[in-house]
Amino acid sequence: MSLLTAEDAQILQARIRYYRDLGIYDFYRRTGPQSGAAAEIETASLTNPEPEPTIPRRKPTPAPSLPVISSDIGPDRPAALSAIQDELQDCTRCPLASQGRHTIVFGDGNPDARLMFIGEGPGADEDAQGLPFVGRAGQLLNNMIAAMGLKRSEVYIANIVKCRPPQNRVPEPEEANTCAPFLFRQIDVIRPEVIVALGSTAATYLLGSKSPLARLRGRIHEARGAKLIVTYHPAYLLRDPSQKKEAWKDLQLAMTELGLKAPKASSNADG
Ligand code: URA
Repeated sequence: MSLLTAEDAQILQARIRYYRDLGIYDFYRRTGPQSGAAAEIETASLTNPEPEPTIPRRKPTPAPSLPVISSDIGPDRPAALSAIQDELQDCTRCPLASQGRHTIVFGDGNPDARLMFIGEGPGADEDAQGLPFVGRAGQLLNNMIAAMGLKRSEVYIANIVKCRPPQNRVPEPEEANTCAPFLFRQIDVIRPEVIVALGSTAATYLLGSKSPLARLRGRIHEARGAKLIVTYHPAYLLRDPSQKKEAWKDLQLAMTELGLKAPKASSNADG
């Protein structure tokens, strides 16, 4: 068994707690016999912060066939994303620019990602660091991604609005409608196969209509040429952890669409 640093052990414990919240209790080593507590610790390979990527990298593809707003997007996705970011500059297109935002949180991850997560808008941690989902909700999202057997660096994460709404309020329609076209262009560049909308704000602006989350979950929608799956926002799951099992069903739907197998863990309601 490899020795873990204190930080890795903490991450591992959080991951194991997260699996338990999902109703997954038994973990099996990929090779060799083991039992009891040792088996659980050996699950490090299952929940390791840096597991082997299981989502095959896509080769950059030639000019997208999807309708795109900018006509000069070629196969160089990083350059195309940088061009969008440059265009935003020190954006003052909506009122959020003058309501205490420090950083424009553009998005983060693999420009060739097959899977995108889209949230509502940056919070205080994201505003300070310039990256999406780096606070408590972000830690939970990291665990959700790891539970799918993926690394955060394999997916792309963004938000409906790129500037923090004061007191983390829901973005106003004027703000979301001003900002979302930049997100849509990011989607058009990345061309993910699956988008997971985190919460009702993301679902509303990606679908272009508002419906209760309960009615949107559990089926495949379409957004900008991608399959769209709707689930709970991680911040909501922090407030109501009993819904994590439901969110896991949504993530499993996304995994099925991507042809991904769940990590080797078995569900055992008796624990
Ligand atoms: N909540 C969001 O919707 N997005 C973030 O980036 C962080 C928290």
